[in-house]
Amino acid sequence: MSISAILVAAGSGTRLGGIKKQFKDLGGKPLLFWSLQELLDCPAVAQVILVLPQEDVAEFFNRYGRKYLPDSLLLKICPVAGGSTREESVRLSLKELRTETRMVLIHDAARPFLSGDLLNRMIEAGSKWGAATAAVPAKDTIKLSMDGEFFTGSLKREELWQVQTPQIFRREWICQAHQNITQATDDTSKVETLGQKIRLIQGDYRNIKITTSDDWELAESFIRERSPVAMRIGQGWDLHRLEEGRSLILGGITIPSDFGLLGHSDADVLTHALIDALLGAAKLGNIGQLFPDNDPAYKGIDSMELLTQTKSMLKVKGYTVVNIDATVIAQAPKLLPYLEKMAARIAEVLDIEADVVSVKAKTHEEVDAIGKGMAMAAQVVCLLQKTALI
Ligand code: MG
Repeated sequence: MSISAILVAAGSGTRLGGIKKQFKDLGGKPLLFWSLQELLDCPAVAQVILVLPQEDVAEFFNRYGRKYLPDSLLLKICPVAGGSTREESVRLSLKELRTETRMVLIHDAARPFLSGDLLNRMIEAGSKWGAATAAVPAKDTIKLSMDGEFFTGSLKREELWQVQTPQIFRREWICQAHQNITQATDDTSKVETLGQKIRLIQGDYRNIKITTSDDWELAESFIRERSPVAMRIGQGWDLHRLEEGRSLILGGITIPSDFGLLGHSDADVLTHALIDALLGAAKLGNIGQLFPDNDPAYKGIDSMELLTQTKSMLKVKGYTVVNIDATVIAQAPKLLPYLEKMAARIAEVLDIEADVVSVKAKTHEEVDAIGKGMAMAAQVVCLLQKTALI
């Protein structure tokens, strides 16, 4: 049985901040990616038709898709432009169904906590009954009021269910339901007008629909619960030789000196040790593997550019920097006047507070190569916090 999923994310609402809700960061990735990932991970789902606002369709893969998903999963996604209402968006996306599609599963991207278990139960119900929706028993007493002032009656709570998504339908039923013009705007009601019965599947109270800022806070608390805070320590060390006539760059700051550090890049020993500490904490390899010193692309490169790339890699993995403590070991020149500037520059590139970056300097008591002014070294420790479930 071939299943196509329609993930509805076409809303243009920005009331939860300046960005459209479906693209707002929830626990390290845009809201829509939570349910998208679950749908893509489901082997029975052959295609995901992702309904987006018109203006976001063309750039979806470049701006978002490739950043959060591997190419192998992107192949399953078919982005389409939605309409002005949810109903129209579903109707437009039905035109993109593959020929072999037998069942259509519809889900709202505003419900990020779609579980694999619920998805599987929906698919099972769909294949058995032809149409099903997730729903949960109403918890509150629900009363009727015609004028909004006085109640005109009560409904029996034990007979009331709150309807959620996902919903699943035989292809011909949902397509026919959307061809007929009816008053019903909800997919299950449309299919019911064809005389078909909708099977009720026990949903999940955690499968919330995010509408208000209170919902958003609740969603964040669910994520925090699932993902206990993970702290990771990293350490990095580096050494470069000094050579007369080279520029001396430390922490992205050029320091007046007759001697500078020798290396394939700008040889910023402090930044190199920092990059190794960050990569080590996130278990992302080391600076030599990621930016090889025999690659012409990195010849003479500003190490701050390498730090920027490292920052992006940490972000994709869901890490943020808690603090950095660095020591430069150099006999000369006196580095004290530059230490705060280095810290500020590192903080600026990593987009963190200068307050959490400490840069210190020590001499090497005139012993060994560093003490004799032949080389400089740096050592760095950092603490990362995993803030996303990635
Ligand atoms: Mg180095």
